[in-house]
Amino acid sequence: MKLHILCIGNEILGGRVLNTNLASLGSLCEEHGWHIERETCVPDDLETIRRETVAALATADVLVTIGGLGPTTDDLTRPAVAAALTLPLQWQPEVAARIRTFLSQRQITIHDEAVNLQAMVPAGAEILPNPNGTAPGLCIPTPSGQLVFLLPGPPHEFMPMARNEMLPRLQARFARTEVADSVFCVGIAESNAAVIAEAVAQRHGGFDIAYCAKPAQVYIRFTTVPERAAALAAAMRDLRQELSAQALPQGCQSVVEGIAQVLAKDGLVMATAESCTGGGIAKAITDLPGASAFFHGAVISYDNAWKTRFLGVPESLLAEPGAVSEAVARAMLQGLLDLKVAQVGIAVTGIAGPTGGTLEKPVGLVYVATGRQEKITVRRYQFAGDREAIRERVVAMALVQLWQGLTAPEAQKH
Ligand code: ATP
Ligand code: MG
Repeated sequence: MKLHILCIGNEILGGRVLNTNLASLGSLCEEHGWHIERETCVPDDLETIRRETVAALATADVLVTIGGLGPTTDDLTRPAVAAALTLPLQWQPEVAARIRTFLSQRQITIHDEAVNLQAMVPAGAEILPNPNGTAPGLCIPTPSGQLVFLLPGPPHEFMPMARNEMLPRLQARFARTEVADSVFCVGIAESNAAVIAEAVAQRHGGFDIAYCAKPAQVYIRFTTVPERAAALAAAMRDLRQELSAQALPQGCQSVVEGIAQVLAKDGLVMATAESCTGGGIAKAITDLPGASAFFHGAVISYDNAWKTRFLGVPESLLAEPGAVSEAVARAMLQGLLDLKVAQVGIAVTGIAGPTGGTLEKPVGLVYVATGRQEKITVRRYQFAGDREAIRERVVAMALVQLWQGLTAPEAQKH
């Protein structure tokens, strides 16, 4: 299946809105064995949308347009696609009725004109219900057997419609064209992971390999045709074995998921004590739904007085060797664990910049303490980059350090 996407909107091209729908659709498609062949982003201009629709349909089996289905003057997708397919627009009373019901349930009144505009639908289009908004989606078959989906722009309307309406229609028509599997690794350089991955791939007859490096994590993805699913499974087993401790368990897509699994297995709860990350580690952890099962809270001790007051860090340590030091990172974690609110913790203290650095303690110097009572590990890191990059790396590295401590062979004896 050749799948093209046409994203519509000045707000995307102007950088006011991030094109998250493309990312969500891309991963939905990969999950189901297809990939997006091409994406084009165009402004809210009728002729441009029409021309790009015609161009896409010269080669695509499926075209998905995103956005521009609403009632405002910049919503031009319906007339533009109708023009591209030389279809008349027809007023659909049931669409108008459904929009009125949706609005009255929410005590919203809009002009009849706006309702009727959204009920103008290219002839022959199938209406895709939109339980989360007014504009319905549309699915239009072309005479040569292609499918054109018109989906709304707001992500909370777009994704449910893509998953519940578009996906089943695609599955009914097109077989999956690929199978893929991934390994997430931590604490290994991308180039070292690549050497291992290439060797494994070669031993098993070759695959398309993709790498994606994020701070402190590398993700390796092998893709092949469905007929080679067994070879793929064998290669993945091999790859996992070769990466051993550096590979997250099967099914884990992030180090937080890995930590969650280990803590759940042992019935442990964790907490964080954060200075330079300002709660960023807690945020990363609580991004995982269900995090409350293993994460109970954070002390954001940004100011020294808070390190003393809430974590019991001795003032003498804050004076010498100073707040950014191995001793203070250790004392912060010790103080957190002494609160008896968690058995496992992370504490970080560092200089995120851009100011505050000195010759002995430059910007990017960070101490990370992880572990549990009597088993605290403190490591010193020197990160590069601006404030945002440094803080992002500290969050990633702190989680990796905890994960490594939890899964180290000596930790598993307990
Ligand atoms: P509405 O009925 O709300 O007007 P619509 O289908 O007409 O929906 P647009 O007007 O194009 O859609 O976009 C509405 C909003 O949806 C945008 O302001 C933006 O916030 C969001 N949006 C549109 N396209 C995308 C995209 N590709 N990725 C993420 N968000 C998007
Ligand atoms: Mg709109």
